[in-house]
Amino acid sequence: MVDTIFGKIIRREIPADIVYEDDDCIAFKDIHPQARVHVLFVPKVAIATLNDLREDQATLLGKLFLAAANYAKSQGFAESGYRCVINCNADGGQTVFQLHLHLLAGGPLKGGFA
Ligand code: 5GP
Repeated sequence: MVDTIFGKIIRREIPADIVYEDDDCIAFKDIHPQARVHVLFVPKVAIATLNDLREDQATLLGKLFLAAANYAKSQGFAESGYRCVINCNADGGQTVFQLHLHLLAGGPLKGGFA
């Protein structure tokens, strides 16, 4: 059971603009978008950080990326491009401790990672 703000979104305890959901993951628009398109892809099982991903959960990460790519295709910006980011722990800028993939798009994004 995911016990973060994202868990509350998964359980429909707080509202979110959900754009995709399947048995394994959910995707919703970021409340403070950093680009014209900013969607978070979140597994439904509790995994606090990328460090906590187990070998037997590796497929789940692939499913998150596939869901993001399919969303990009469905929205028509797969070819023009987008960025996928996973922040890990304090120095990585992680603020919600449930593993999630950021999908950023909607025009040219600034280069660099710092
Ligand atoms: P992190 O910094 O952990 O990689 O990313 C967490 C993201 O979750 C941030 O971009 C933040 O804006 C977003 N966020 C935090 N709380 C909420 C919320 O209640 N609803 C939505 N939709 N996004 C949230």
